Amino acid sequence: MNENGVITVVSGFAGTGKGTVMKKLVREYDHYALSVSMTTRDPRPGEVDGREYFFTDEPSFLKAVEEDRLIEHACYCGKYYGTPRDYVDRKLSEGKDVLLEIEIQGALQIKEKFPDAFLIFILPPSSDELVKRLRGRGTETEEQVKNRLKRAGHESEGIEKYDAVVVNDDVSACADAIDLLVRAAKFRPSHNEDFIGSVRNGILSL
Ligand code: 5GP
Repeated sequence: MNENGVITVVSGFAGTGKGTVMKKLVREYDHYALSVSMTTRDPRPGEVDGREYFFTDEPSFLKAVEEDRLIEHACYCGKYYGTPRDYVDRKLSEGKDVLLEIEIQGALQIKEKFPDAFLIFILPPSSDELVKRLRGRGTETEEQVKNRLKRAGHESEGIEKYDAVVVNDDVSACADAIDLLVRAAKFRPSHNEDFIGSVRNGILSL
């Protein structure tokens, strides 16, 4: 069977706590590598360049797109976000499961380019809880909060295109559920095509 890593896409509405779940996963399990995206949005207080994101300006971002240095990119609430190719390639070749915490347009580009990618959508326990968490984190203005809720409404239309959904009402339980899903994803035929082919060819040549 194929022991290579799986590209695991994790999406969820702003305020679902995806970032915390991702950090927990990387801390608890050593088979994950968390990709750091490039973005044109401003850093939030406490965010460090190269840790949460590679913060950049629009011309540099568009140059990276032009030079095919991003495996996907999207515009989210007026800012660009994209996944650098070199890190993903390197970690996959090291056998790591690469986590991409990205929004839906990027997720669907990944599915198109890497049919073996596994797409997980994190849901909040309820819509009321989502609003509460988004306002509670206090990092966005009320206008930005409204923008993100509007965006969540659009994003919710695409959830059925994902391979799995998990609810984040407890960070540890959510991280454990994701780990279970990723381990199970390695048993899919799409992740084991070479092995299936070798067994099939062996049988057919008997
Ligand atoms: P935030 O500004 O809150 O950090 O992120 C906004 C949205 O952009 C989130 O849904 C996040 O998952 C998504 N995002 C972060 N990095 C990337 C990326 O590289 N590509 C895409 N398509 N979305 C991203």
